Amino acid sequence: MTRKMDRPNEGIRCVVNTCEYYMSGDHCSAEQIKVGPRNADNSEETDCSTFRKRDSFS
Ligand code: SF4
Repeated sequence: MTRKMDRPNEGIRCVVNTCEYYMSGDHCSAEQIKVGPRNADNSEETDCSTFRKRDSFS
C-alpha cells in the first residue's frame, strides 16, 4: 500500500475528496501515485489507481 504522508505532496493537485489520501485544499498526501491506463487518448480516459475510498466522512 502507498504510504500516506502527514503533509501534501506538493507536486499533485487533486479534487477527489472521497479518497483516503485527499487533503483539504485539493492536495494529495500519497507519497507517490500511479496513473493509467497505458495508451490513453485523452485525460478523460486516465485515472489514479492509487485511489482508495475513504472509510468515513466525519
Ligand atoms: S491518491 Fe489519487 S485520487 Fe487520491 S488524493 Fe491522491 S491523486 Fe487524488
